[in-house]
Amino acid sequence: MDSKLIDEILELLWTLREQGSKKYADVVVGIGESDVPDVIRKMEMGGLISVSDDNIELKEKGETRARDLIRRHRLAERLFHDVMDVGMQESEETACEIEHVLSPTVTDSVCAFLGHPPTCPHGKPIPRGKCCSKYRAGVKPLVVRLKELEVGAKGRIVFIVPSENSRIERLASMGIVPGSVLKLKKKRPSFVLEIDETVLAVDSSIVEDIYVKQI
Ligand SMILES: [Zn+2]
Ligand SMILES: [Zn+2]
Repeated sequence: MDSKLIDEILELLWTLREQGSKKYADVVVGIGESDVPDVIRKMEMGGLISVSDDNIELKEKGETRARDLIRRHRLAERLFHDVMDVGMQESEETACEIEHVLSPTVTDSVCAFLGHPPTCPHGKPIPRGKCCSKYRAGVKPLVVRLKELEVGAKGRIVFIVPSENSRIERLASMGIVPGSVLKLKKKRPSFVLEIDETVLAVDSSIVEDIYVKQI
């Protein structure tokens, strides 16, 4: 039984659902291999999915497996793209391979190492793991939220999670971009950063969205 093809279908079901589709036809077109209908039938018999009319729904067992795959894929993208500076296309391709092999323990270690990022570099949500809710993870993180740096410490920005508060262009105009080195000068009463000899006071809601590697 082609477990890799099953994984691909489960992942596609997850991403299609994020885009608002559950259509059987979208899965067949999205995968583009002739044995997809056969594999879908096997997945239905195996209790991973249910098929009705023109739609496919994930059942609990399929939901869990899809969620874990997506989590591993998107964490791997963050690791390769943001930390190792591998190009987007290659990060994506590597993530597609690695998602099938990472063990749960390694996955949670990668998550902790990256500061439990909420999204992948494409801005899609990374399903949370058990590690994300623990107060303290066993792995010493490489990447932390800016607000967790000590006053006086320096960090290099690894990634910024775009949100309402942190419109990327506005931050870029202040020199707050991945790769910039900053020094945290103050946390109270508001956050004060030094970047390129410029001292900036920034909103604490923006600080939430910036992930840095301490240097
Ligand atoms: Zn992604
Ligand atoms: Zn985590």
